[in-house]
Amino acid sequence: MLRLRKSLFMAEGYCVKCKAKKEIAEAVEETMKNGRKAIKGKCPTCGTVMFKILGGKGTPAPAAVPSTPPDPAAPAPTSVTSK
Ligand SMILES: [Zn+2]
Repeated sequence: MLRLRKSLFMAEGYCVKCKAKKEIAEAVEETMKNGRKAIKGKCPTCGTVMFKILGGKGTPAPAAVPSTPPDPAAPAPTSVTSK
C-alpha cells in the first residue's frame, strides 16, 4: 500500500558544485518575510546547501538585490560645482 502523503516533496534545484540539476534532499519549505516561498535543502550528492525560491504570490520576481555595502573607495559626490 502506497502512502501518497509525504511531508516532503520532490524539488529540483541547481547544485553549483555538481553543476547539475539535483533533487533537493531534506527539502523544507520556508516562507520568507515577503510572503514568498522557498525550498531549502541539500544536494544529495555533495551536501551543498541548495535554495530554491518558489515565488508564492505570482508576482514577477524583481531583480535580486543583494545587500551590497557601500564602497568606501567610491568617490564621494562632494565636487558639485554647478546645478
Ligand atoms: Zn552537489
